[in-house]
Amino acid sequence: MTSAQRWPIHPVPVENEALSSWLSRIARCYQMDLEHLIRYEWGQGQLLDIDILPPIGFLEIIAQRSGVGLERLRLMTMSGWAPWLLDSLAPDPNSYASYVHQMSVLFPHPKRQRRLIPRWRAWLPKQTLQRACPSCLNESPGHETFKLMWQFPLFISCPIHGCWLQSYIGDGQLSSWHQLDAALIREASDAIKTMDRRTEQALTCGQVDLPRRPVHAGVWFRLLRALIEELSMPVYISRLQSKDLARIWATSGHPVRAGQSRWYPFETLDPSAQLQFLEASAVAMSMIENQEIRARGCLAPLFLSEPDQFVDAGHPLPEPPESTEKEVHYWQIAERSLAKTIDEARTNPVVAKALFTVLLFGRRDAKTMRTIRTHLSAFGIPAKWCHNKPNSYPL
Ligand SMILES: [Zn+2]
Repeated sequence: MTSAQRWPIHPVPVENEALSSWLSRIARCYQMDLEHLIRYEWGQGQLLDIDILPPIGFLEIIAQRSGVGLERLRLMTMSGWAPWLLDSLAPDPNSYASYVHQMSVLFPHPKRQRRLIPRWRAWLPKQTLQRACPSCLNESPGHETFKLMWQFPLFISCPIHGCWLQSYIGDGQLSSWHQLDAALIREASDAIKTMDRRTEQALTCGQVDLPRRPVHAGVWFRLLRALIEELSMPVYISRLQSKDLARIWATSGHPVRAGQSRWYPFETLDPSAQLQFLEASAVAMSMIENQEIRARGCLAPLFLSEPDQFVDAGHPLPEPPESTEKEVHYWQIAERSLAKTIDEARTNPVVAKALFTVLLFGRRDAKTMRTIRTHLSAFGIPAKWCHNKPNSYPL
């Protein structure tokens, strides 16, 4: 193969597939492994950040070889998910404060010390995770595809099958599972499924439907990360909500702060502690939604339905006269009501104004108002009563 040639065989990338997974599948078409394919195309066999930030020029070569567009290839790496999922892949000492500390869920006022973490990047662990959904892989034996986000501490479960992601051994392909078959399919709790479905929706639709209103994907990821930060707070600092914080951790079945005696950024924790924080986040969201705890953070209301509001519907319409017909249609009622309203509007300026406002149907331009006023005049309703100025009824 030369650099200008298209690969004669290259399977189509699957939605949300990691670049390494797709290149491994291509390599297998040529009886190679991923390392050999990369060395063949790039000159170096090991690309540590292939699914995060491939070296400049690498994706261009893959695009030429496969015909797959650069934008699609970028989305197979974390570099394609900035600024939604993370602000930037370039380390910035202020990125921690700007990403994590601007939102709050549990606490009314962030009582957090400002942290400067020079090389911090949201959601990127020291070492990517090797996790996969057993059910997803079982659906395509021999052609397994591994999703990009399985490698990062964003999901606990597979949003499609609702089972826990499981650790596996293998490089770009499954060699074996870490656990025995009996333990492979582990159903996730409802709280976890809900949180993971929302994260999936953020990645696939760009927004998340929360009970109060939809939020942009960028808000969802920062909300989740802010919640994790709040859960990492020692119970004694949270004061008013220390009981709620303790209940969240107890309900999740894990020790407070996932047993961490000292604070470390979530991304640097070991994978088991990260999963405990994610599970506690799912539990916290569920408890807020079910009103088992009262969260006071600025984003907490997003998990609650819009409160019922009293709407003054005005006075009921007068009852229509008894119909001699067996069936009365609503349009007949409306017609009779309209006739009575027009009749009353001829002598009552308040009714005339109300009728004029209804007929405007939200429009306020001069031409529409003039036309409706003319029509009402034809019914004998004085034009001077047809206006929509508040609290002013010219008599
Ligand atoms: Zn699955």
